[in-house]
Amino acid sequence: MLLGAHMSISGGVHTAFERGKQVGCTTIQIFSKNNNQWKGKSLTDNDVISYKKQAKKTNIKPVVVHSSYLINLCAANKTTLKKSRESFLDEVERCRLLGIPYFVFHPGSHVGQGEETGLKIIADSLNMLHEKTKGYRVKSVVEVTAGQGSNLGYRFEQIRKLIGMVENKGRMGVCIDTCHLFAAGYDISTDKGYEKTIQEFDDIIGLNRLMVIHMNDSKGALGSRRDRHEHIGKGQIGDRGFSLIMNDKRFKDIPKILETPKGEDMKEDVMNMKRLRGYVKK
Ligand code: ZN
Ligand code: MN
Ligand code: MN
Repeated sequence: MLLGAHMSISGGVHTAFERGKQVGCTTIQIFSKNNNQWKGKSLTDNDVISYKKQAKKTNIKPVVVHSSYLINLCAANKTTLKKSRESFLDEVERCRLLGIPYFVFHPGSHVGQGEETGLKIIADSLNMLHEKTKGYRVKSVVEVTAGQGSNLGYRFEQIRKLIGMVENKGRMGVCIDTCHLFAAGYDISTDKGYEKTIQEFDDIIGLNRLMVIHMNDSKGALGSRRDRHEHIGKGQIGDRGFSLIMNDKRFKDIPKILETPKGEDMKEDVMNMKRLRGYVKK
């Protein structure tokens, strides 16, 4: 079972593996660099060697990279847009160096430009970036959002429209975040709502595009469009919703990754993964 959590890279990217191993992860998510900087320190040959050594030793795979929160691929401000694209490129380059297959990012905030314009600029950004990274095996994995503020990507239709405008569709993947889905109004907490949501995802986007699932319960109510993660089973989605995901054969080989609050000792990760494993019917 591919189950894990977001891990710190404090001390170097390679250190994430030991942390993951400590709490029993079989897959992990990391930031590729300091998350609140536009450009991080370049990876040295030694960084790459240590990373690959630890990857092999712990047998944790796949690793998923989550993009920096600074990036907005449809920023209205030209300087911010340029910085976002450069930063995205830098992160994809890091993924390639480390052999990481999935680069998860939030589509972007249209900041008053409107949905249509926003999606068009994101597609332009992706086309430009894919052109610059031709032949790379790193997938650009767009995450479904809660729809806070002017965030795009909280409807499956928006994701479909975006992918429709991306030229190299082979580079595109999608990440579901359970908290975001629920906050966006997709009720995955009941049997009926869950099935309807997954069916809709398949009809509109296609389950073949699904590469990663973020496993977070939601503090916010259904349709609240609030992005507030809660421990598994303790939020508005609750045990039933997560039990349905954990037993869904369609998601058997999809990495499931926690992004729930945690402290230094990561005991919350142990608790949440134990709870998730507990849902699995033999
Ligand atoms: Zn995210
Ligand atoms: Mn997420
Ligand atoms: Mn979130």
